[in-house]
Amino acid sequence: MREPDCLFCKIAAGEVPAEIVREGERTVAFRDINPQAPTHVLIIPRDHFPDAATAGRARQGLLDEIAAEAEEIARADGVAGNGYRLVFNTGTGAGQTVFHLHGHLLAGRGLEWPPG
Ligand code: IMP
Repeated sequence: MREPDCLFCKIAAGEVPAEIVREGERTVAFRDINPQAPTHVLIIPRDHFPDAATAGRARQGLLDEIAAEAEEIARADGVAGNGYRLVFNTGTGAGQTVFHLHGHLLAGRGLEWPPG
């Protein structure tokens, strides 16, 4: 299930280069091209869902799986101990710019709350 013009579908298929950090049967994780923290990894499903809302409805367990991947990657990067943030920007008003579901894993620096 993919969208022909979707950048993240192309990354998942290996058609666009990315710094892949972890791959599974259903998910792929790669470093953000414009990192906002020392660890900034995007975790995506291989299948195309526009955002977390549609994915959560259509594929039970997928968001859980992304959360579990985030924990593994944070541990592997050595940043899990100090805490990390897992963010799903959902909709243009929340800052979403790529409409293929992705969790942002951010860690390795102090993270303020509320985010901007
Ligand atoms: P959004 O604003 O929540 O949709 O996040 C999209 C993210 O994708 C941004 O943090 C971008 O820096 C990142 N991004 C866009 N194109 C690429 C790419 O080709 N490789 C890796 N990250 C990308």
